[in-house]
Amino acid sequence: MKKSPHRPTRAVIDLSAITYNLEQVAYHLPQEVEKWAVVKANAYGHGAVQVARALLPQVDGFCISNIDEALELRNAGITQDMLVLGVSDVQVVDLALRENIVLTVASLEWLERLKQTGQELTGLRVHIKVDSGMGRIGFRNASDINQSIASLTEAGSLVEGIFTHFATADERDESYFYQQLNTFKEILAEVEDCPLLIHASNSATSLWHQETIFNAVRLGVVLYGLNPSGEVLSLPYELRPALQLETEIVHVKAVPKGACIGYGATYEAMEEEWIATLPIGYADGWTRDMQGFAVLVEGERCPIVGRVSMDQITIALKKPYPLGTKVVLIGSSHGKEVSATDVAVYRGTINYEVVCLLSDRIPRLYP
Ligand SMILES: *Cc1c(COP(=O)(O)O)cnc(C)c1O
Repeated sequence: MKKSPHRPTRAVIDLSAITYNLEQVAYHLPQEVEKWAVVKANAYGHGAVQVARALLPQVDGFCISNIDEALELRNAGITQDMLVLGVSDVQVVDLALRENIVLTVASLEWLERLKQTGQELTGLRVHIKVDSGMGRIGFRNASDINQSIASLTEAGSLVEGIFTHFATADERDESYFYQQLNTFKEILAEVEDCPLLIHASNSATSLWHQETIFNAVRLGVVLYGLNPSGEVLSLPYELRPALQLETEIVHVKAVPKGACIGYGATYEAMEEEWIATLPIGYADGWTRDMQGFAVLVEGERCPIVGRVSMDQITIALKKPYPLGTKVVLIGSSHGKEVSATDVAVYRGTINYEVVCLLSDRIPRLYP
């Protein structure tokens, strides 16, 4: 979608909050642990290039979900190590070699397909993915891993790391987490030529399971100042949310009792009311189920009344405000706060999805 910078709707990103969050997490980890910043999905909507540049001095590398996301960073002049977390098309190996991008190897079948392409594998850097119970991608037994490592090494590739991913590190019940941890450890014990870098910790594991860190962590949502568990577990230390979603009132009016607002005429004024219109809608990632939620106008909570349209929403005001009055949809205003987690809870989802879904139409500003 086309970025729309001439509209007052914007996501203001505080990069100093992101570097602060990394410092906070790093302070609570053993010093020698490598820190990899997860900047996939445009750094969870915060802007991958800007976030990566800000974090450069503090991290050992970046994780992204696919090679195109890695290339975006390379093209921006970022030279640090980059690990593609997902399964890549076997055809991208040339590109990975040329751009020095580390790929994930998640199955023997993929490796065999790769070999069939006849591409040169000398110098290709890879990490092995272990499926210890997440059930998405990865090897589920050590013998396939051993076979893969032998085959990759023979082809001149560099098997630099091995990793897994936890399904429940953000939950109160720890039993499945420890089951996965044991599975990973059992597999590692049987790996003959174990790669040097071993990593299992996402944000939640880094926050609440520090005893299980191997020698690197993959930090995603914590960097953006969001609690990976939403409202389930409380943060062990302070993090600063980095994203503020703002817009301005572009239209305001008094409507008489009985006036209806929006598609479907789902809202009817019970008395004379002040209604303001804001230039943001579901095409911006402010989804239709946000009807009834509140936004902040000078610290005052004002409900979204009527349906959320593609490009506009309507809110009820306690009193008239002039055009151009700032409205905060995520963030703080006059000491009041609406967090991405509040939005997520209202919507029945997780804060990750709220920030990731903010569309490209919204410019990201870095004051
Ligand atoms: C997205 C992702 C992460 C980061 O997760 P957070 O919960 O945001 O820290 C780490 N590892 C893998 C494999 C991922 O896909």
